[in-house]
Amino acid sequence: MFDDLMTWLRAQLDERESTAAHNLASIERHDLAVQMLVEVDAKRRILDLHRQDGALCEHCDAHWPCPTVRLVGLPYADRDGYREEWRP
Ligand SMILES: [Zn+2]
Repeated sequence: MFDDLMTWLRAQLDERESTAAHNLASIERHDLAVQMLVEVDAKRRILDLHRQDGALCEHCDAHWPCPTVRLVGLPYADRDGYREEWRP
């Protein structure tokens, strides 16, 4: 379904953001939802820094996908579409 880690990872973050947005209305889950949104924003900023430039990451010059992007993806490794080849 997703051929590259970055596209798959951004889809996971979109889903996480949607879940958090639904939970914002819940009194019990409001603080957790806010925390989730802050985490999604931070991870998106990390991904904005680490972009593919040919075979390398333009930020850290490592082979693409770089270790940073792989680590951002690791917490979602149990989700559909994750590939073992992306594991750091
Ligand atoms: Zn990088």
